[in-house]
Amino acid sequence: MQDYPTKITFDDMRETGATRIIVFCKDYRCSHNVTMDAARWPDEMRLSDIEPKFRCTVCGQRGSNIRSVDVPPRMGTG
Ligand SMILES: [Zn+2]
Repeated sequence: MQDYPTKITFDDMRETGATRIIVFCKDYRCSHNVTMDAARWPDEMRLSDIEPKFRCTVCGQRGSNIRSVDVPPRMGTG
């Protein structure tokens, strides 16, 4: 699983072909996560800008870690 930097914008993310994000609870012991369609956020928004806006619905922790949902890499022998 590729580890994308979190300072990327939604535009950067869409450049990679990804259309969805996964929002992880900030508490690693909880590790609750949800995937969301990224279409609602504008291109210039950074993924890191919306991380503080989420609150975990399981443990109540405020804040989150957001990644883009990886698209399958285009690999092959041609
Ligand atoms: Zn949680």
